[in-house]
Amino acid sequence: TSFKTGLQGHLFILSHDTELRIEAETDKGVKLVLCKGTAEVFGTELVSNHEYSFPPGARLAVYTWYGCEVVVNGDRHKCYKSDTTPMVKFLNLQVVVAQERERRKRSVLNGPAVLVAGPADVGKSTLCRILLNYTIRSGTKPLLVDLDVGQGNVSIPGSIGAQIIDHPAHPALGFLHQTPIVYHFGHFTPSMNSKLYDMLVSQLAEKIQLRYGALPESRYAGCLIDSCGWVEDAGYSSLLHAAREFHVYTVIVLDHEKLFVDIQRDLPGVHVLHFPKSGGVVARSKAARKSTRRESTRSYFYGMKDHIPLSPHSIILPFEEVQIYEVVESDIPSSLLPIGETAEGIKPSVSKISPSKQMITHILSVSSASDPDLILTSSSMGFLCVTDVSLDKSEITLLSPQPAPLPKKCLLYSEITFMDMQ
Ligand code: ATP
Repeated sequence: TSFKTGLQGHLFILSHDTELRIEAETDKGVKLVLCKGTAEVFGTELVSNHEYSFPPGARLAVYTWYGCEVVVNGDRHKCYKSDTTPMVKFLNLQVVVAQERERRKRSVLNGPAVLVAGPADVGKSTLCRILLNYTIRSGTKPLLVDLDVGQGNVSIPGSIGAQIIDHPAHPALGFLHQTPIVYHFGHFTPSMNSKLYDMLVSQLAEKIQLRYGALPESRYAGCLIDSCGWVEDAGYSSLLHAAREFHVYTVIVLDHEKLFVDIQRDLPGVHVLHFPKSGGVVARSKAARKSTRRESTRSYFYGMKDHIPLSPHSIILPFEEVQIYEVVESDIPSSLLPIGETAEGIKPSVSKISPSKQMITHILSVSSASDPDLILTSSSMGFLCVTDVSLDKSEITLLSPQPAPLPKKCLLYSEITFMDMQ
């Protein structure tokens, strides 16, 4: 069908409180136009008669509170309507959090921190995005805290971070981040080093508290915390640790009933709510996760293909211009530890490494610290990818979002790799 919008596609008529779930093909994006009524994508209002393009593989829902008509150019069989959505529940939650925010304005407390928890693929990031968008639309600028090292919603995967959200998310691109606070963890799951992960979460919480001192508006706004899908064993302990460090007002558990019961028991005094998983949330295969991560790292350097392209720099530096460190676990046998000290109590530390060919394709973060002892407790200023190491010339080539010189010399090596194939 061709409509006045000019987009060739299928017309879907949605009644109030329903959504159209859309899955773009993996090799082709999908386009849509709202031609009548009002609708939103994960809390971002759509502009009428504007053509929105979504990338290949995108999964989304066009939700309407009052009814609408949408034209979609994509495979008709990959779009379906549903009137079973959790949106009314999400809106009620939003109202309760807004009331708590108002109440806290008259106290010395920070704005309410809301932690969204649950196993993988239950819609945690989507719920955070919807609540952040509703908060912005009500005139408040909240903080997004991203503790999910697997996805990297604030910076590249393998890091945790926080960003003040001052604009609703772009329907297709999500939130655009400018100056996030980022800590480099260096793995896609906290299980690779849960001690370091917990340490970075504590650092992030502390840094945010310091920033709040300078930005009272954000302090009152509160934050939305997106967490990792690893909720068993040490993953559960890390979740509780995060909830305590951020002094959460409420924890929303998606889908997992046992997690809901456990958190209620272990976080007395915190409001713990259980929401079912939306039927629209799609589980991603390992390959799909890998490709999302790759795209996220690629867009850190190269921007978003059709929207905000970036041109990274290839910089060649003599070895003495950089100091590369890696995280080391304590390997001191417990018999050699001071009396009363256990290996548990020993914090991760760093050790200096020399540039080598094995570093090619690995991601390094630029630490804001000048003192190596402070690297693990300092935020990252940005990321680099090692594209070559010449032992003959004693030079390292780095893909960098900015031209030389580097703002700091201390770099933290990680196991995360990126194949630069541009
Ligand atoms: P992870 O464990 O990887 O962090 P998650 O629990 O945060 O996953 P989301 O990323 O929010 O889950 O959702 C998984 C996928 O489902 C995303 O691609 C998202 O766009 C899609 N999705 C979420 N809600 C809907 C919906 N109502 N209709 C269609 N797709 C949806």
